Amino acid sequence: MRSEFNDPTAAKSTKPAYTRPNVANGPDEELASLVASAQELLRWEDALGGSGFPAVELRRATSALEPEADTGAPAIVPDSHTRLQTLASEAAECTRCELHRSRTKSVFARGTPDTNLVFVGEGPGFHEDQQGLPFVGRAGQLLDRMIAAMGYDREGVYICNVVKCRPPENRTPLPTEAVACAHFLVPQLEAVSPKVIVALGRCAAENLRCVPPSGKWRGIWGEWRGIPVMPTYHPAFLLRSPQFKKPVWEDLQEVLRKLNRQV
Ligand code: SF4
Repeated sequence: MRSEFNDPTAAKSTKPAYTRPNVANGPDEELASLVASAQELLRWEDALGGSGFPAVELRRATSALEPEADTGAPAIVPDSHTRLQTLASEAAECTRCELHRSRTKSVFARGTPDTNLVFVGEGPGFHEDQQGLPFVGRAGQLLDRMIAAMGYDREGVYICNVVKCRPPENRTPLPTEAVACAHFLVPQLEAVSPKVIVALGRCAAENLRCVPPSGKWRGIWGEWRGIPVMPTYHPAFLLRSPQFKKPVWEDLQEVLRKLNRQV
């Protein structure tokens, strides 16, 4: 079961243990100092279990949210199914963030990429981690009923999460984990290229850049790379607070109107 809001107490310190050694005066000593600095940085990186300097990783993942520059070279574009299978295989072996340490299985997606409707949740819970499929616990059963009420088959939509590995104690993914996993989410959504995305919960809406700086966020259309995004409450939240099912159903009716489907 996922939490609805970020837990500020869950934030980890990212302050580096690395400190640059003293810089000496002469050129030889300066060179030796630089080598020592590089070695110290590598030791710090090893201690973090990372595969690149954190600042570089962050820039790379953030830039993945922006369109690629046109190099003029002819592009070889794999079909979306092949691309998604490759990404799922990569996610199964991925060690880009600390979440890989406690996962049983990575959880890439379920449903069909040949759809006009995608649901994005927050991250896998216990049952999802065990089975390697998203939304298979109680919250998933509620989501299936919501999908059926919209007139879709359970396997007729595409369902994925912001992070592909289960956060400990089902906590909300840290921003660094979400940024690291954008390596998968961005090409995943690009490959499916739906007409509408439903963001399930504030975490998903925030990572799709669809939460205003203040005020109401649920039920307000946003946009991710030109695709309309409807942010609404997470099914796990609805299990705890069923009185909010009605506004969620109103949001889903808005989605149906956007898709020109019968409400
Ligand atoms: S959550 Fe995403 S980035 Fe982190 S280890 Fe799993 S697949 Fe990799």
